[in-house]
This record gives sequence, structure tokens and C-alpha cells, in this order.
Amino acid sequence: RPNSPEARDAAYHMHSYTNARALEKDGPLVLESGEGIRVTDNNGKSYIEGMAGLWSVGVGFNEKRLVDVAAAQMSKLPYYHNFTARSHGPVIDLAEKLIGMAPVPMSKVFFTNSGSEANDTIVKLIWYRSNALGKPEKKKIISRNRGYHGVTIVSASLTGLPNNHRSFDLPLPGILHTTCPHYWKEGQEGETEEQFASRCAADLDAMIQAEGPDTIAAFIGEPVMGAGGVVVPPATYWEKIQEVLAKYDILLIADEVICGFGRTGKMFGTETFGIKPDIMTMSKQLSSSYFPFSAFMMNDRVYQPIADESDKIGVLGHGYTGAAHPVGAAISLENLKIIEERGLVENAAAMGAIMRKGLDDLTGNALVGESRGVGLIAALELAAPEGMEIPVGQLGAKMSGYMMENGLISRAMGDALGFCPPMIITEAEVKELLDIVGTSLDALTKEILG
Ligand code: PLP
Repeated sequence: RPNSPEARDAAYHMHSYTNARALEKDGPLVLESGEGIRVTDNNGKSYIEGMAGLWSVGVGFNEKRLVDVAAAQMSKLPYYHNFTARSHGPVIDLAEKLIGMAPVPMSKVFFTNSGSEANDTIVKLIWYRSNALGKPEKKKIISRNRGYHGVTIVSASLTGLPNNHRSFDLPLPGILHTTCPHYWKEGQEGETEEQFASRCAADLDAMIQAEGPDTIAAFIGEPVMGAGGVVVPPATYWEKIQEVLAKYDILLIADEVICGFGRTGKMFGTETFGIKPDIMTMSKQLSSSYFPFSAFMMNDRVYQPIADESDKIGVLGHGYTGAAHPVGAAISLENLKIIEERGLVENAAAMGAIMRKGLDDLTGNALVGESRGVGLIAALELAAPEGMEIPVGQLGAKMSGYMMENGLISRAMGDALGFCPPMIITEAEVKELLDIVGTSLDALTKEILG
């Protein structure tokens, strides 16, 4: 329809993570409103947002307390920055709150606007730190295949997914990728999960040795990989990785952009997996994405040399106009209060267990390869049955299409369907979500297997 929102969008709006030509032809899904765990499109069709937007709207789509706090802050001080020693109440309160919440001792918070920007800044500060320590050669960063850390030039380099590198001339030199701890995909014939975890650590050790330990500054990883397909590492993986990093004086960055603030059933993914990071990246559920907002915390080992260097130079030559925004900080503080007051971390653990059980029950289906997850983040991995050739991604796309038809938004990552609903979800809503997954899987099975 000419002049429809879909046609105008197709005419004027270039989308992220979309096939541009397909969008021109088909137009987008246009959303109009949100309530609780649901969003409604411009035809009045309602969907369970099974991905909480982009793994991010923890408290649901119409949390009035966040709206009120944003309006109040807008009226009081709608903008200020933190350049040249300026600050304001919301950001002071939030920095103190985050340091208080940190699962390991942390000393400072740095504010940014997105997960990408936070990771980009972390790498920059790590380079600055290495120079400050008189180790200019210690600058390489090790990430992992299938990891996701953003899309700016540095953070896209950290990301270990082909679509973020292909045709962009990435990754940058000095950013390396080691083995992904995806047992179902990467485990070898006869190898236990424990042996696989040891192999991942040995691969990391070999990479460090080959590059030269004195050239590696940091290792970055998501406690649970999100966009890489909800990859939950083997139980001993992080312990073994940390042993290797400690041997070579390599910093550990935990990218908590998805896992942080309850998603894995504990406040931080680092707690779920016994990770002791030097730096933690936070975004998404920090503000429930009601405002673009991100931050990272660092410990003294990271902060002190940087502070010394800025003292020597006279300034830390880095910062963003919109970062430490009073409205984003006020929203984040209130969001954290809601998460704590309403016990949403505990709810994520309890509802996640029900969701996992329901997805596990589907693993008998001939098209299901694996169900995996932790807390309230999970994936159902589809796979072609023995002897059948189906192009990678086709089952995922079809299943996602059936679920949309049936009123559930999920995300297909190849053939893995992600489930990461708002943490306010109730038991009845989890059952509704699972019913739609079951019905959609039945329809897919009928289409593929007859
Ligand atoms: N890190 C992780 C773990 C993410 O999942 C994402 C986004 O999905 C990012 C970083 C990048 O965040 P943003 O899209 O806000 O730049």
C-alpha cells in the first residue's frame, strides 16, 4: 500500500541487521505499543516478546516507574555530561550503586551509550594502560569465535561472527579469536564436556604461547554467549580459562551486556560461572533499554595505571557527549531498584527452570538437535534429521516464521531459536510461550517431514 507506514519505512529507512533488498520489497513489522511481556503491531496483532526486544527489556514494556522517573529527570536536569570534572546526582548514585553491587571488588565505573561503545572504550583504555605500564607491546586482545561484543570497528573485531567481519575488512590486526565453548557444535567424537573444556583452555594457552605472552593484554568473553546462539559453556570452562589467564598476567573482561542484572538467574553471569573479572561491561538490562545506556566497571589493577597516566598527561583524552546522561542514569537506578524489590532475579531463575523443562521436553522431536540454557535465557537448536540435507539457517528461519504467525517473537541465530523473555514473566505466560513453541514445531515438522 503506497503511503502505508510499511511503504514509507521501506522508502526511507535503512535497517540494522536486515537484508536491505528484501526490506525494500517486503517492508518491516511496525510495532505500536507494548505492555508487560507483549508488543502490539499496527494491525492490532499482539506478540509475546520472547527476546525482550534485544535481550534487554528486563522489566517489561510499560513500566510506569521508569516513565515517571525519566519525566521527572527531564524536567529537572535533562542533560549534563561528565567532561572536565562535571557530575550530577543520578550518575553519582548509579556509580556508587554499581560498585556496591559488583560481585568482585571494583573501583570505578566509566559510562558510555551502547554495548559496542563500552567494549570499544575498554580496549582503548587497556592500550592506554599498557603504555602507562611501559609495556607498549602488550596490546593484543583475545576474544572467541561466535562471541558478540558489538559492531564499532574495534568491538566488531572482538565479535567472532562472520557477518560482522565479511566485507568490512575486519577483524583489525591484534584482535584474535580462540575456540568457542559450544560443546554440541565443537565437541569431538568421544570427548566429554570436561575434556572439551580442557581443550578450550589448552587452545587458549597455545594461542598465547604462539603470539608471545608479553603481547597479550586481555581476554574478553560473555559468561553465556548470546547472539552466538546462547552458548552455555561447560561447568569447568571458566575456571580453566582463568587459570591460563592468571599464568600470563592477562586481564579478563566479562561482557555482561546480556547476562547482567539477573538474566542467568543470579545478578551477574560472573556469579553463575565463578568468573573473577577485572572489567565488566554492562548495558541492556541496566536501563531495561528504556534509554540507550551502558557502562563498565574496572578494578584497581586496571584503574590505577590509567589514573597515573592521565595525571602525567594532564587529561584522559576520551569521552562521549551523551554518556553519563542524567535521564539514562535515573532510569537505570530505578530499574535496578525494581529488579531488586520485585525479586526479578529469583523470578528469572524460577521461570527459567520451567521454560528450560518445556524446551527440553521437545528434544524428542526429529528436528530438534539440542535444548540449552541457564536462568531465563535459552535456545532450541534445530537440526536436519540424519540423511536429510537442509541449508543451514533454513529450519531456524521457518520456525521463527511459524512462531511469529502464532504470536511469539523469537530470534533465529542460524538454526538456534533464542528465548529471553522479560524477567517479569509469570508461570502462565511461560506456559503460553511454550505452547506456541510446541504448536509451531508441530507445523514445521509437518512441513519438513510430512
Ligand atoms: N556485548 C554483548 C554481549 C551484546 O549482546 C551486545 C549486543 O547485543 C553488545 C555487546 C553490543 O551492544 P550494542 O548493540 O548496545 O552496541
